Amino acid sequence: MKITDLLNTGKVTVSCELFPPKYGSGLAGAKTVVRETAALNPAFISITYGAGGGTSNYTADLADETQNKCGVTALAHLTCISSEKEKIRETLAQLSKLKIKNILALRGDIPEGSPHPENASYHHACDLMKEIRDYKDETHSMMEDGFCIGGACYPEGHPEAVSIQKDIDTLKIKVESGCQFFTTQMFFDNNILYNFLYRMLNNKIEVPVIAGIMPVIDGKQIARICKISGTALPSRFRAIVEKFSSNSAAMCQAGIAYATEQIIDLIANDVNHIHIYTMNKPDIAGKIIANLSEILK
Ligand code: FAD
Repeated sequence: MKITDLLNTGKVTVSCELFPPKYGSGLAGAKTVVRETAALNPAFISITYGAGGGTSNYTADLADETQNKCGVTALAHLTCISSEKEKIRETLAQLSKLKIKNILALRGDIPEGSPHPENASYHHACDLMKEIRDYKDETHSMMEDGFCIGGACYPEGHPEAVSIQKDIDTLKIKVESGCQFFTTQMFFDNNILYNFLYRMLNNKIEVPVIAGIMPVIDGKQIARICKISGTALPSRFRAIVEKFSSNSAAMCQAGIAYATEQIIDLIANDVNHIHIYTMNKPDIAGKIIANLSEILK
């Protein structure tokens, strides 16, 4: 099923994100994580793409497991920054063959210390989106209607963006390049998302936005993640991390409660599509979904 069809039913959706294992670790454990996550009955499962590393093929394998073995719609991430056109077309053919219709098209992070060459095949996510939109599948008739393309957006602005307005302008370019929905970077203050959604509307960007929620269960990890992503930590959240990060069971409980509260507030304010960054922990996602059981009915 196309994700845009799932998002247009008027119902609240909760989806989950998984990442593939490191190269050489094998797929058996990751497939178990897929099965346990699928058992939570999410609207869809997204599988990240290991840019530049050796694990990129695992994304298609796990998307296959998700959709064709477990019966849950898969969203395969795909990055372009270190790829040649031939590799991208091969990946599109592979996804098409597997009937994976949904792709989150990303630039990926520019590897540290290696400036992006001017003659590279792709410079921005919109270049990849155009490639996917224009991809003609001559062999797999199920894909005649093309891929459903999503993109990333950043409620606090992308860390490299020159200005908030310029960052919004690039989202417009993504939509013009074929992007049909956005998933947000994680955020810990819902007001930041609400302001961002107003900016999107003011700029006449009207495709659905899926709110990305990261349950923080490891206080030490979060400082590093926030530094990379440029995500702000509100003082309320910082107090929780400072108080509980030395007690992993308490931090886990507080992280689940914080994420649950964030989601309830979002749904109460008509943000109907929630994506849980599960960090490959189906039990944590399961506890959050259980906390929402009446709300999701
Ligand atoms: P772009 O849209 O290309 O934006 C990058 C920068 O360039 C921004 O500052 C933007 O303002 C600017 N820009 C964009 N378009 C233009 C243009 N046409 N002209 C001028 N400037 C422009 N990384 C992975 O490696 N694998 C993953 O699976 C993955 N999944 C992700 C999922 C989500 C929901 C999110 C939010 C991020 C994910 N990332 C992933 C990280 C992502 O690759 C990085 O944040 C990367 O730095 C930017 O990717 P992008 O697709 O947003 O890039």
